Amino acid sequence: MFKRYSITFWATVFVGVVCLSLVGVDVWRSLNARSEQLQEMERLAANVARAMAQQADDTIKAADTALADVVERIETDGQGATPLARLRKQMQWHVANLPQLVGLFVYDQDGRWIVNSRAVLDQTYNNSDREYFIYHRTHTDRGPHVGEPVISRSSGKWIIPVSRRIDRPDGSFGGVALATLDVEYFRRFYQGFDLGARGAVVLVSNGGVLMLRQPYDSERVGGSMRDTELFLHYARQAGAARTGSAFFRSSHDDEVRLNAFRPLEHYPLFVSAALSREEMLERWRRDTFMRSIGVVVLAALIGFFGKRLVNQIRLREQAEKQLREARDALESANRTLERQAMQDGLTGLANRRQFDVTLGNEFSRATRGGGTLAFIMIDVDYFKQYNDLYGHSAGDEVLRAVSKLIRALTPRRPGDLTARYGGEEIGILLPSTDASGAWAVAERIREAVEHLQLPHDGSPFGQVTLSAGVAMLAPRRGEHLAGMLVEAADKALYQAKSQGRNRVCIADSQ
Ligand code: GH3
Ligand code: MG
Ligand code: MG
Repeated sequence: MFKRYSITFWATVFVGVVCLSLVGVDVWRSLNARSEQLQEMERLAANVARAMAQQADDTIKAADTALADVVERIETDGQGATPLARLRKQMQWHVANLPQLVGLFVYDQDGRWIVNSRAVLDQTYNNSDREYFIYHRTHTDRGPHVGEPVISRSSGKWIIPVSRRIDRPDGSFGGVALATLDVEYFRRFYQGFDLGARGAVVLVSNGGVLMLRQPYDSERVGGSMRDTELFLHYARQAGAARTGSAFFRSSHDDEVRLNAFRPLEHYPLFVSAALSREEMLERWRRDTFMRSIGVVVLAALIGFFGKRLVNQIRLREQAEKQLREARDALESANRTLERQAMQDGLTGLANRRQFDVTLGNEFSRATRGGGTLAFIMIDVDYFKQYNDLYGHSAGDEVLRAVSKLIRALTPRRPGDLTARYGGEEIGILLPSTDASGAWAVAERIREAVEHLQLPHDGSPFGQVTLSAGVAMLAPRRGEHLAGMLVEAADKALYQAKSQGRNRVCIADSQ
């Protein structure tokens, strides 16, 4: 597989993979950071909700304890002037000791004040129309009742009423004991939480009435929460599931917040701490944005330099390829030159130079190995006349045709060589061949040329013929020279010429 694609391809793939993994790792890290941010947000909101619920529970509990004390005293001691004076003192002591407590009040069955924690008992107010009063008149249960927040008729402040029913000895309705809790006291506590610029906390009754919201909005205190997603969700839950968290879109300001809600342990209220999702993710977005810019710049740099690197590799490859091609061309040119240097242009046979080299080599080999070396010298008959009669180029044609024939008829064993020896003389070197073998070759050639029947009016034969001289030698060192073999063949050729031409003669063994 590595071989099939070029190095530039793999370099490109490598650069691409590096860039992609850089981006991929960053995307993965960003998503991780986002889910971590959301988890962190959930933990923070849940902790705030827990603190709020605990504080609200404790605050109400303390006031309710004072209230239970008042109810017990009035039911036990009756409503005489002395016990009431003592009760007032006790009530004033409670109010002085509990900062959340605005006042403690006792009403008779018609809603008139019997005793309260104030310095003077003002009889002008009648609270029989208040929700808590109506509740206790119509319900016999003796537990505490947390009412809707109202603006106090006596102090003008927002207060949360906590009340208990007072029974007559016969069990009939005898009035109401009331503790008013300062909304401001809760507010001060809630202000201490940092939930961001767009976060919010609420204290809500299980009936869906908003007791308090921070950031504070006096318009909304006592308002209904029954249509909000938060309340609808909370109201659907039961038991342990009432503690939890979820994203809701605020119907008030359209902000999507993570709400961690939690009921109070002892009173029918719940709290919710809410963090703005946009605000919480803003920092994550900014971080991610900055990082992304960094990563993109890095990837772009890697891509840019990677591309340059790949281009360099490509250029080098091209240069190497051109170099290889140039080398191959040179080698082939050299081979052609070599061949041309050893070949005869007209006939395609080996030239005289190659003949001389091969003769030298084969002669030495035969000398060393004690072998034999045969040589045939061929010469076309009456060739001068042929040229004179038919022209020089027609003569060349004859030489070419004869050469082709000779090439076809000579053996092609290693060491055998057919060469153009001179003008129209062709030599055939046949190592390890005896005289009769060489003669047979020469005779076969002579006959074949005769069969060609190339017309030659200048010859007594009427056609082109040739003569050949054959010589054979078993060379011995110090006794023979290569030239002697050629000379002997030449002599035999001369003999053939003088015997009438168109024949083959063998040199005598001397
Ligand atoms: P013979 O051999 O029968 O005694 O007579 P010849 O006329 O062939 O005599 P010789 O062998 O001496 O002739 C050599 C002639 O061959 C001389 C020249 O005109 C001719 N010749 C040599 N080389 C070439 C060549 O390359 N082309 C052509 N057309 N003729 C050549
Ligand atoms: Mg000749
Ligand atoms: Mg001749």
